Amino acid sequence: MILTYKILHNRDFATELHKAIKVAKYAISHKNCRTTKSVKHLGLKACISNQILKKYGGNKKIKNIHSVKLTINGYFVKVNQEKREINIPSLKLKLNYLFPNNFIKLNQIEIDNKYCYISVKIKDNEQIIYNNSIGVDRNTTGHCAVIAIPHTGKVIKLGKKAFHIHRKYKKIRTMLQKANAKKMLKKIRKRESNIIKDINHKISRKIVNIALENKCNIKLEDLSGIRNSKGGKNTKKGKSGESFKSSINTWEFYQLQTLIEYKAKICGIKVIYIDPKYTSQKCSKCGRIGNRNGKKFVCTNNNCKHVDHADSNAAFNIAALELKDNKESNGQLLIERDINKGSTETPQLGTQLIRKVA
Ligand SMILES: [Zn+2]
Repeated sequence: MILTYKILHNRDFATELHKAIKVAKYAISHKNCRTTKSVKHLGLKACISNQILKKYGGNKKIKNIHSVKLTINGYFVKVNQEKREINIPSLKLKLNYLFPNNFIKLNQIEIDNKYCYISVKIKDNEQIIYNNSIGVDRNTTGHCAVIAIPHTGKVIKLGKKAFHIHRKYKKIRTMLQKANAKKMLKKIRKRESNIIKDINHKISRKIVNIALENKCNIKLEDLSGIRNSKGGKNTKKGKSGESFKSSINTWEFYQLQTLIEYKAKICGIKVIYIDPKYTSQKCSKCGRIGNRNGKKFVCTNNNCKHVDHADSNAAFNIAALELKDNKESNGQLLIERDINKGSTETPQLGTQLIRKVA
């Protein structure tokens, strides 16, 4: 598994970053001539321009470039794990790191005007596949996630706070929008997303801990259709009938998923994706389609008559469902696939860990 940590570099790389943009622009406009020699005149170190040429040269989608990170292959970086020191001779940059020292290789470093993004390879924990699974319902009324543990019958609801945060910040945002206070609005948005990120970190940790304690896999709904459908047919309707998109931000959802995946992977817990069809309409006891009214689920089967909180019922359904064909977690994150597609909705994760690729 590859993890990326970000650390402050406290250096001014404005000149180099400016050169990097030039190299990237060259790479895009010169399809057939992209050697380091051809951009030598731009003045960036060959080992860095080489990486930028590689990254931007093959990418036909990129048309406009506003910021380009300085990219250094791990081969050109000296690491002293004993002293926790990273040395990039080409930039005369020495860094001390605090992130876990359990990596086996430093793959790459990317640098922007403030941070170094250090990608390291860590040894994968052996993944255990348990007989039991916990079900996590993420599209819930009032909580970020509702967890069902079928073999104990227990239900755990997490992330109630997020909804209060959204309500509070929505009011502030509306006010600022009316006042046309753009700068403040941006600041407030950032603050809100930081709070949500923190909540997602805590929820994901808790979910993985629950799986560990109960010796369970984690089952999630494969909601990749939601993002692409933009309120179309595939959009899972919220319990009150409004579409998913309007009730919670998509990025938050995927952020939580990414965090669950990476934390589970580190602990050797398997994440399984299931088809979200009918998870909120079906009775978790008998499987029949029942009535859902707001937060209440009532089974219409006279032999069953199961009554439950709608979210708990959905979470038990998720836990019981078999995995969706070919959609099980194969280590490559759904979010990562979106990055490849060039999506701009990608969340920035964590303070130390920002993303993971398989
Ligand atoms: Zn029933």
